[in-house]
Amino acid sequence: MSDMAANAGRAGSFPEAARIALADTQLRHNLGHATHTIRAKRAGVVAEVPDWEALREAGRAVKERVLRHLDTHLEQLEASIQRAGGVVHWARDARECNRIVGDIIASHGADEVVKAKSLTTEETGLNGALQQRGIHAWETDLAQLIIQLSDDAPSHILVPAIHKNREQIRALFARALPDAPPELSDDPRELAETARAHLRKLFLSARVGISGVNFAVADTGTVSVVESEGNGRMCTTLPEVLISVMGIEKVVPSWEDLEVYLQLLPRSSTAERMNPYTSLWTGVSEGDGPREFHLVLLDNGRTSVLADTIGRQALNCIRCSACLNVCPVYERTGGHAYGSTYPGPIGAILTPMLSGMTAAGSLPYASSLCGACYEVCPVKINIPEVLVHLRHEEVAQAARAPGVRGRVAPEHVAMRAMARVFANRRLYEAAQRAGRITQWPLVRDGAIRRLPGPLSGWTSARDIPAVPPQSFRDWWRERQ
Ligand code: SF4
Repeated sequence: MSDMAANAGRAGSFPEAARIALADTQLRHNLGHATHTIRAKRAGVVAEVPDWEALREAGRAVKERVLRHLDTHLEQLEASIQRAGGVVHWARDARECNRIVGDIIASHGADEVVKAKSLTTEETGLNGALQQRGIHAWETDLAQLIIQLSDDAPSHILVPAIHKNREQIRALFARALPDAPPELSDDPRELAETARAHLRKLFLSARVGISGVNFAVADTGTVSVVESEGNGRMCTTLPEVLISVMGIEKVVPSWEDLEVYLQLLPRSSTAERMNPYTSLWTGVSEGDGPREFHLVLLDNGRTSVLADTIGRQALNCIRCSACLNVCPVYERTGGHAYGSTYPGPIGAILTPMLSGMTAAGSLPYASSLCGACYEVCPVKINIPEVLVHLRHEEVAQAARAPGVRGRVAPEHVAMRAMARVFANRRLYEAAQRAGRITQWPLVRDGAIRRLPGPLSGWTSARDIPAVPPQSFRDWWRERQ
């Protein structure tokens, strides 16, 4: 079973996982501090761009156009890469992707590879699959290395170790890195230096490098990785063989389109004006970089997402993580509660669509629908719209389940009755009057804190404001 499928299996229990996470005060402190810092910095650098909204619209429009003609763009990308001396592989699912990558590494007799941070290979569970074939994949991104050494799972798209603080990382390095200095402190510079010394030896000895792909330009076959540490560039330039794994939605038609995303991504992700390392390569070049380049194009459920006219906008995602940093649910539960490679608001829509509602049906409910994610998304993915759409789907699927089919749930009856009341002014005003009269035994300090019987679930975690003595309509009529 792939990590994505295994993770999605755990995603079915978001409410339980969230409850455990909420009890961890250290985790909440680490997350609150980190998300608030990134959020404030992002808002500052975004405000500097006068045409930010136009850029967002361009980012959305290009993605929409790409998805409409995805097959054509992918075939063009394949032809361009082959012309430039690269090899393209097509993988239907995680298993096929891992097999292709493993076969390439094995054909070179390597038992160690260096890896740049890649969510796509995290999704396929590549490291575990390679380990089963006796191949060790070394993560080289600092946060990803921390996750690997502590045998943990990433909890953020961009900062996988966001849930750990400096002291926890110091203790980990002192324990897990044989060449860590005995007096290692929790100074970030010293910690980074220790990781650098460890990684440098790996970069110089590995014969195969693995990377993800942020964007690939169809008309030239140029592949791009953007990152902040420079480790990605080491992985993509030093080894003799480079294997890049890319979700099929990452293709862009031209360099003009790429330009839009290279402006949107750094400000939305790390709150930088420009990305520190943007590596771009086209096939192979004699005497410069890897001698062999393989691009693996991964579907793994993406074409099914494409078939969903509302849900397909999730494929626009450029993995900036801005939606995670503003989400009140993510900020309190952290990424592990989502049980998926993709946590936060984007994970709440992408995971159920990629893995199926049976495995991750609770994730569309992991949101207050406040809309903060939609406001910051650089490619204007309407996450609340997709969440509501997926909730509909989850309810419809549950109603079709064996043993439930044909039975009328009390919740459905209640919702239908409410819909009738809300759609009719007279009924609505009558309900208001009835509520005003009958609520009095339940009201304390202007709010209903506990509803009786089967309705008590509604107030188990929230209050309901009491129906006011005078409605707005009554007040308005009185003024007339
Ligand atoms: S959904 Fe939007 S905000 Fe969230 S990670 Fe993707 S691109 Fe960024």
